[in-house]
Amino acid sequence: VLKGTGSGALPPMLEQYVRLRDEVAEGLPHALLLFQVGDFYETFGEDAERAARILGLALTHKSSRDFSTPMAGMPLRALDSHVERLLAAGVCVAVADQFEEPGTGLMERKVAQLLTPGTVTEERHLGADENYLAAVATGDGYALALLDVSTGEFRCAAFHTRLALYDELSRCRAREVLLAPELSGNAALLADFQARFPVMLSPATFDEGQSRDALTLTLGEVPPSLSSAALVRACGAVLGYARMTQQGELNMVRRVVRFEPGAHMRLPDAAVRALELFQAQAPQGRTLTDVLCQTRTAGGRRRLRAWLRAPLLDELSIRARLDSVEALTRAPDLRGSVRALLYRAHDLERLAARVATRRAAPREVAALARTLDLLPEVTALLAGQGGLLGGVRERLAGLPDVVTRIRAALVDEPPIRAGEGGLIRDGFHADLDALRTEALSHRAWLAELEATERVRTGIGNLKVGFTGVFGYYLEVTGPHLSKVPADYRQIATLKDRARFTRPDLREREREIARLEAAASRLELEVFTELRAGLAAHAEALSDAAGALSDLDVLAALAEVAAEAGWIRPETTEEGGELRLTQARHPVVERSLGGRFVPNDVTLGEAGRLVLLTGPNMAGKSTYLRTAALCALLHQIGSFVPADRAELPIYDAVHTRIGASDDLAGGRSTFMVEMSELAAILHGATARSLVILDEIGRGTSTLDGLAIAQAALEHLHAAGAQTLFATHYFELTRLEGELPGLRNLHVAAEEDAAGSGGLTFYHQVVPGAARQSYGVEVARLAGLPGPVTTRAAKLLSALSVQGDDRKLTRELAALDVGRLTPLQALELLHRWQREA
Ligand code: ADP
Repeated sequence: VLKGTGSGALPPMLEQYVRLRDEVAEGLPHALLLFQVGDFYETFGEDAERAARILGLALTHKSSRDFSTPMAGMPLRALDSHVERLLAAGVCVAVADQFEEPGTGLMERKVAQLLTPGTVTEERHLGADENYLAAVATGDGYALALLDVSTGEFRCAAFHTRLALYDELSRCRAREVLLAPELSGNAALLADFQARFPVMLSPATFDEGQSRDALTLTLGEVPPSLSSAALVRACGAVLGYARMTQQGELNMVRRVVRFEPGAHMRLPDAAVRALELFQAQAPQGRTLTDVLCQTRTAGGRRRLRAWLRAPLLDELSIRARLDSVEALTRAPDLRGSVRALLYRAHDLERLAARVATRRAAPREVAALARTLDLLPEVTALLAGQGGLLGGVRERLAGLPDVVTRIRAALVDEPPIRAGEGGLIRDGFHADLDALRTEALSHRAWLAELEATERVRTGIGNLKVGFTGVFGYYLEVTGPHLSKVPADYRQIATLKDRARFTRPDLREREREIARLEAAASRLELEVFTELRAGLAAHAEALSDAAGALSDLDVLAALAEVAAEAGWIRPETTEEGGELRLTQARHPVVERSLGGRFVPNDVTLGEAGRLVLLTGPNMAGKSTYLRTAALCALLHQIGSFVPADRAELPIYDAVHTRIGASDDLAGGRSTFMVEMSELAAILHGATARSLVILDEIGRGTSTLDGLAIAQAALEHLHAAGAQTLFATHYFELTRLEGELPGLRNLHVAAEEDAAGSGGLTFYHQVVPGAARQSYGVEVARLAGLPGPVTTRAAKLLSALSVQGDDRKLTRELAALDVGRLTPLQALELLHRWQREA
């Protein structure tokens, strides 16, 4: 642990350091130990080098007579900001605090906190979003367990393929992923995981027996839904690991929900990225979440993201959400009042989790009370509502009254930490009141001392003062020193004055200190008891928190719909038509305002495949994404940006949009594109929506064209509803060959002949585009005139060559032996015409 120079024995403090460091390494082998030494947290040896590198700390040396080791430290008050940076860098941190061993004067140290990226619970280290710790084990397929320690949310699922597992893992953005030894032991697999996720190598036990014990300890049983050994092991591993980092306290976890990946719309990670649900592709770009996130609480925001990650497949559930959203869009006053109340709510989910572990700080308990205080108003507002809103009302109303007790016990503005007094209200606890009254009477005596002593001694300017070193003192200036009474004892002499004390003054002081310490201790006891009482309601609190989050999302969706003029979509039968009238892209519409040109989209009976052509920048991608986003919004139970919308329930939305380089992953653009295409072609069914933009770009034209056509044919055979944007005009001739394929194009017009300008109408109209306008767009983009002119020339030359090639191909393919003379003549005639 401590590489150092010299052979001497370690100084006792470093010996203690090494002992704690070893202790930590048993559970978290790569953790960095921050070791309190007075006003600093220090790191030594390799840790010091690591800390210096990551945090930019100055590296010094800790040296004794014959030993020296690197050392880097930070002042105590800088702890939080440095921990945050370490966690963000994926580093686990152990914090050892020092305690004075009473009487001995010796410094004892203990590991007070273990902080890892996926298990922190302190609000200051957490973003508002969910914070998952994940564990993966294999057996028959892959088992995944996901735990958010900050809220107690605990879920698990089994996956058949690694790809499906990857999708889920990246969707939930796990901060820390634990791998079972059968995975981490395989170098290739490990590297693959590490390239994608923040894998934490730890001796987390995936042992089945120990996992069963961990589950029983936390949940009281091994839930029957954990039907495979892999699921048990993954769940047991996260629990074991989380329990270690929480130093034994895992009360916020009360149940595990097994979810079926197939119970939700499949939304591969590529689609999540391409549709910019959570993260924009452009640095300043906006996401669907930005548009939808009219939520008022942190819990609501997390819930909305959860809905977006898992759109529904079940018509009744979709309808239930839509009903509630509709009810709220129709009642602007109700919506406004609900949202105004939610705005005042604190993060109830996390508060409930803090309460469950008995860790809530005084201010958190006060925040809990303030939030719970809002609930009766919320339930009153929801009176008479049915459906999900009625459900929310019942879930909120079912909460036992804990506010009264908190209010009675806790002062309105409690201090940050318990244990320093000033926490418990007067009149709540008789013994506490007695201690306080007594302390106060002594203080009152002190407060009057100046006046009483002036009278008694006749020294008009006698002063009572206080210093941290001497405590209270009586101060007399030079001219009056002769009048100082006999019971004064001099404790300090200054230039022109002297300071005194009296035996009874010391006595009173000691008494005040004793009483106040006793009061603080008692306050802490009372607070701890209050917290324990709250912990008994943890489950009810977290249910109420869930209800509040649901309400928040429904109200937010209604707000967006009402503000942006969205409409309620209708669900058509399984595999049925998609019909959007005057649909808009929710995000682009927001930034363009009234300038957005709405378009119709139909897929289904009229044709399951649409081939979309048109110049670059005409609006092809936007059109494609509009359809996909409307499908997604429908299935999370949201209104959609259109004048009318009928949609089937899709089992998956697949997209392949744009060429995103995966240079870090070492794969070429083309490889990425092809592997994403492969996943789509394997996964698409007759109930899927497939959005493909510019397939085959990363390779030569002929290859690309061939691949694009073959992919289209495959999707046609699979029956998937497909929107396909392409610059391969050759594909437009497939209309007629592939039944159900329609050509559409985005209207654009060349400006007055020769000017080289191009006007975009963003309007999608039937038929194929005439040409690609690539050169015109290049001109628009500011390519120098001579370059575009030369390009235009080259283009026409290439087109002639293309025609030649076409002729050659046709000739080669000709079966001359079977040609009648008349057919041969006709062919010659046609070639002559086309030349
Ligand atoms: P393409 O895929 O054809 O290259 P995009 O869909 O990326 O084109 O659109 C290019 C730009 O045109 C977008 O950034 C957007 O600002 C604008 N645009 C696209 N569709 C519309 C529309 N329907 N109405 C108004 N502007 C649009």
